[in-house]
Amino acid sequence: MSGIYIHIPFCKQACHYCDFHFSTSMKKKEEMVLAIAKELQMRKNELENETIETIYFGGGTPSILPISEIRFLIDEVYKNYKVVKNPEITIEANPDDLSNERIIGLSKTKINRLSIGIQSFFEDDLKMMNRAHNSKEAKKCLEVATQYFDNISLDLIYGIPDSSQNGEQAQQMSNEKWIQNIQTALSFGIPHISSYALTVEPKTALNKLIQTGKIAKPKDEVAQEHFAILVEMLETNGFIQYELSNFGKEAFFSKNNSAYWLGKKYIGIGPSAHSYDRFSRSWNVSNNSLYLKAIQENRLPNEIEILSITDRYNEYVMIGLRTIWGVSLHKIENEFGKEYLNYLNKQVQKFINDDLVCIENNILKTTKKGKFLTDGIASDLFFINL
Ligand code: SF4
Repeated sequence: MSGIYIHIPFCKQACHYCDFHFSTSMKKKEEMVLAIAKELQMRKNELENETIETIYFGGGTPSILPISEIRFLIDEVYKNYKVVKNPEITIEANPDDLSNERIIGLSKTKINRLSIGIQSFFEDDLKMMNRAHNSKEAKKCLEVATQYFDNISLDLIYGIPDSSQNGEQAQQMSNEKWIQNIQTALSFGIPHISSYALTVEPKTALNKLIQTGKIAKPKDEVAQEHFAILVEMLETNGFIQYELSNFGKEAFFSKNNSAYWLGKKYIGIGPSAHSYDRFSRSWNVSNNSLYLKAIQENRLPNEIEILSITDRYNEYVMIGLRTIWGVSLHKIENEFGKEYLNYLNKQVQKFINDDLVCIENNILKTTKKGKFLTDGIASDLFFINL
C-alpha cells in the first residue's frame, strides 16, 4: 500500500512564518496543473506493483484550484494507478477559499477529508501571521464544512507572540487565549487537530519582524506550557495523541500521515515534493519555472539520495519516538543489527533514569514528562558514523 502526495505551489499571500515552497503569482497555474498530471503519468511505473491507499493535496494552497482542476488531477491518479476502493483523499484548504458553494462542490468530488488551516480564531494573531483569512471566515467555514464532511482536521499554532502589544511591551499569547482557541476548535466537534509551535525559520518575514523588534520572539517556556494545555484538553475530550503534534478521535487518525510515520512508500508530485521508497528519498526542484521546463522536456526534475543504514536507523528513531507506535527494539535489531541496538540501549539509559522515556514490551516510547523534549531526545540517540 502506498500514497500519492500532490504539491500545489501557489498561495494568495505569504504567511509571515512560512518557508514552504509556493508562488503568489498565479500566471502559470493552468500550465502547472497540466505538468503535475504529466508527472503522474511519467511516474506510474514506480508504483506499478502497489495499490494507492491515500491521495493528499498539499501545498501551498491546493484549495486555490477550481473544482474542475481538482477533479482532473484525481482522475489522472485513477487513470494511471491502482487505487483501493475507499482511499483517503485529503485536501488542505484555507478558510477564505471555503465558501458554502466551494464546500458543497468539494463534497461532490472524491475528496473525503479536509485539512483546514485555521491557525488561530483571533483576528490579531491572523493579522500578525499575515494569514489571508479572518476570524469570522474561520468559524463560518467550520460551521458549513462539518455539515458536508465527517473527516475534518484543523491546524492550530501555539506559542504565538501577542501582537496586540508592540515593541518592548510585546508579550506572548496568554494561556487563557490559547485555551479559548482550543475550546472554539472543540465546539465544532471536528475529529482531528494538528497543532505546532510557531517556529521562526531563517528566511521568513517573521524572522525579520523579530530582528527589528516589531514582534516579540516566541519563547520556548510558553510553547511548552501551551503544549501541556493542548495535550490535556484534547485527551480530556477523547482525542488520542498518535503523533507529537497530531490528535485524532479513534478511526480518524490521518491515514496519509500515519503511512509516512510507519515507513510506507509514497511518491510526491509537483515542485518541491518529496518521495520515499524505504531505501531512497528524492525531492523535486523547489522552483516552478524549472519544474515546468523539465516536465515539458520529459525529464523528472529531482535529486535522489540513497539512504544508508545509519540514515534509516536515525530516521526510524526520530519518527518512532514522536508516535504512539514508538521504537521497536526488535525491529532495530532485525533491520539494523546488534551494533545499533547496543548503541541505542546505552544512549537511552540517561533518559530512562530521568523518566523521559520508558521501554514497555520491547517498545521505546517517551513518557508524559519527555514528550515535549522528543526531538532533542531522538537526536541524542542518533548513530553517528565517524
Ligand atoms: S497558506 Fe500555507 S503554504 Fe501558503 S504561505 Fe501560508 S502557511 Fe505557507
